Amino acid sequence: MKERVVILGGGAAGPKIMAKLLRTTEYDCQIDMYTDEDMISYSACGMPFYIEGLIENYRRLIVRTPQQFEEKGANIHLSKRCIKIMPDEKKVMLEDVKTKEISYADYDKLAITTGARPYVPNIKNINLKNVFTLRKLEDAINIKDTMLQSKKAVIVGGGYIGIELLEAFVVNDLQVDLIERSSHILSIFDDDMSELIKTHIESTSPDKVKIITDDAVIALIGEDKVEKVVTQNGKIIDTDMVIIASGVVPNTEIAGEAGLELGVGNTIRVNHRMQTSVKDIYAAGDCIENYHLVSRSHVWIPLGSSANKEGRCAAINISGGYDTLPGILGSSVTRYIGFTMSLTGLTERDARNHGFDVITTVTTKQDKAGYMPESENITIKLVADRRTQKILGAQAVGAGDADKRINTVASAIMADETVDDFLHLDMTYAPPYSTAIDPLLSAAIVLNNKLKSND
Ligand SMILES: Cc1cc2nc3c(=O)[nH]c(=O)nc-3n(C[C@H](O)[C@H](O)[C@H](O)COP(=O)(O)OP(=O)(O)OC[C@H]3O[C@@H](n4cnc5c(N)ncnc54)[C@H](O)[C@@H]3O)c2cc1C
Repeated sequence: MKERVVILGGGAAGPKIMAKLLRTTEYDCQIDMYTDEDMISYSACGMPFYIEGLIENYRRLIVRTPQQFEEKGANIHLSKRCIKIMPDEKKVMLEDVKTKEISYADYDKLAITTGARPYVPNIKNINLKNVFTLRKLEDAINIKDTMLQSKKAVIVGGGYIGIELLEAFVVNDLQVDLIERSSHILSIFDDDMSELIKTHIESTSPDKVKIITDDAVIALIGEDKVEKVVTQNGKIIDTDMVIIASGVVPNTEIAGEAGLELGVGNTIRVNHRMQTSVKDIYAAGDCIENYHLVSRSHVWIPLGSSANKEGRCAAINISGGYDTLPGILGSSVTRYIGFTMSLTGLTERDARNHGFDVITTVTTKQDKAGYMPESENITIKLVADRRTQKILGAQAVGAGDADKRINTVASAIMADETVDDFLHLDMTYAPPYSTAIDPLLSAAIVLNNKLKSND
């Protein structure tokens, strides 16, 4: 008899599981996907670029339509929210988002891919019009429509989404105040690197952008739609729209209520095969806890890159195969108007917090031969452990190709390389691509010299 696989959530991890199961012809199953949205499988990561205008039609962000999956034999149930998981009966309880009608679905294997939702801080009058979060495609459409009629915006939060929206708004000629509660924007970077990022943003768009740190929005003012923002430090800022980009929380309440073991920040704890603590229930994507390969600790770093890999791994195991994911490095990248910001592994701050004997180096070099017209600077920060001489992490920012250097370091960390191993890496060189000694290797040489002089 066919196994019944139920997938909850249709963002990134869910469709990945479904696509992989549909390709696994030796596994005879019936797949039912339930999502509370009226769309599945679109690129949330592309939404800031749709808002900016780089992608004209939001439909381009849809990776696969429900019809495409249904033609391959899966059943897609839109606007159906799972409100209860009943592991003893191997059932889920569903509510139709529009009619509130209740129904049930039986499963042999269940995959929870319910993702995360925006965290909305306690702000007075948050329900005024023109106040948005960005998570769903309809959010992107509404933000873009409002942006096109606006002159001023306030972004609450200086993380990746806040910075990508900042670019979108500035390119569309808006005046933007970005308000960040902590002392630095993009605080997943070390403070020295965040400072470089802030300096770049402010110098690129001096008349357009004001970055306010160490302050928080506490209230919004307006009749019907938002007109002013009030901050904790007493600033009152005129605005036409507000974006709340203050982080995310995992959608794991139904998993917790069903007795699944939860981990960091109420994420679902899974093993390396994406199995939860309850038999035949798998989970993947933003709703699960991650294992960090350098700190060897549980963390929560929700990213689309991980969600897809976890979905693939879950599908292989659901279909009776065997696959494991060792863990993550939290490798990520974003940009602000021609300036790339990327990192992998541990920052200096994280490494110290985890008790490593930290040594670092920060170097700025051109990313291509200096005489090439497209040559640009990148600043690379390498973090290593003095005791083991292993590379722990790297951050790279600049107008040059920062992310390719970070991906190289990610490979080195996965291979458990010491700085000395790493600086002998045979990297490519031609003037339009690199320098004879790549800036990353130059950084490693400086770090190695520092390590040796400490011996
Ligand atoms: C603006 C933006 C930009 C991003 N940029 C990047 C990037 O550049 N690189 C990167 O790696 N990551 C990026 N991300 C993160 C990436 O989009 C997420 O990591 C990824 O979407 C996670 O996929 P997921 O399937 O776990 O969750 P989601 O995509 O959130 O999908 C979960 C789905 O489950 C549904 N759901 C929730 N609860 C229920 C329920 N009870 N019943 C039924 N359905 C439910 C949700 O409505 C949603 O449709 C970005 C995210 C955003 C918002």
